[in-house]
Amino acid sequence: MSESLRVDDLPLRDDLRGRSPYGAPQLDVPVALNTNENPYPPSQRLSEALGRAVADVAAGLNRYPDRDATRLRSDLAGYLGHGLDASRVWAANGSNEVLQQLLQAFGGPGRLAMGFDPSYSMHPVITRVSNTEWVSVPRADDFTLRPEDAVAAITRHQPDIVFLTSPNNPTGTALALETIDEIARAAPGMVVVDEAYAEFRREGAPSALSLLPHHPRLVVTRTMSKAFAMAGARIGYLAAHPAVIDALQLVRLPYHLSAVTQVVAATAVEFTDELLSAVKQLRDERDALVDWLRRHGFTVADSDANFVLFGEFDDRGAVFQHLLDQGILVREVGPPQWLRVTVGTPAEMSTFRQTLLDVTGTAR
Ligand code: PMP
Repeated sequence: MSESLRVDDLPLRDDLRGRSPYGAPQLDVPVALNTNENPYPPSQRLSEALGRAVADVAAGLNRYPDRDATRLRSDLAGYLGHGLDASRVWAANGSNEVLQQLLQAFGGPGRLAMGFDPSYSMHPVITRVSNTEWVSVPRADDFTLRPEDAVAAITRHQPDIVFLTSPNNPTGTALALETIDEIARAAPGMVVVDEAYAEFRREGAPSALSLLPHHPRLVVTRTMSKAFAMAGARIGYLAAHPAVIDALQLVRLPYHLSAVTQVVAATAVEFTDELLSAVKQLRDERDALVDWLRRHGFTVADSDANFVLFGEFDDRGAVFQHLLDQGILVREVGPPQWLRVTVGTPAEMSTFRQTLLDVTGTAR
């Protein structure tokens, strides 16, 4: 076997040549505030329940899992409310896989997907990997999305899929329901509202779930990676019209969601109250961080998520590196003068605040 074989020597798809794999650095640091994870591990009660649930399914792992993940979809529908049931909910290995299945079903050669930047950079990646064209439309300077700008872009480009992210990553900006409604009225194809951070919204920022009855081509995606603190378990899901679920059944791999994943997810749903009480603490910590950053002269985007985009730095790379040198990993993402920090535990945030003051004395 030739050791010098490189990826470009392979008969790789032309459009993948020269591309790099997507992903934040996974560094072993004392304070990891870079991937919007939940800093609170499962409680002992939850981890024991997970252990028991996994032990139960372990005895039957010679058989394929429930291909339709019916119990889990029904449990997730119960959690979401809004009169949803299993026929309107779909689950996969992380919301990234849910998004990929949507692209497989509704995108493809000759089709176009649209997003509003800055936003979640996996949307264009998944789009392109599924051989779908991508068009990006800028948000306003304050990272909000003016409905008239969105509608004008949609009217012009006639996208097959529109991605809205609310609360948005990396800015934390939530969209008004009226904006989503106007966009869904104007869009000729599917409208996907990525609500990965929905549970972290401030009071009065509603979910797009309530719009589902009015728009059969509207899809709301969610994840258990953030509020449910289950990033390692890989569970994402969506709510949509049952016809959309039928479409996804055409592209999903048979048995895509393992029996272990299904039972882990269903067990986490049973602990919703406990998990969401930690979300409340994270929201308070987020609001305190936004206040603190503003009081110390930073510019901060309003956040409805478990992270905060702040700046503005002439050389954000230097600030990033100074923080990293002190064991704090944040994310260089979004507009060039900004950094994104995930909300961690009170102790982590205290270290972050102190270190930021120390390093920006020189780097800002
Ligand atoms: N959507 C958004 C907006 C995200 O920020 C993320 C994770 N960073 C995801 C989807 C994917 O999350 P997961 O695949 O873990 O569900």
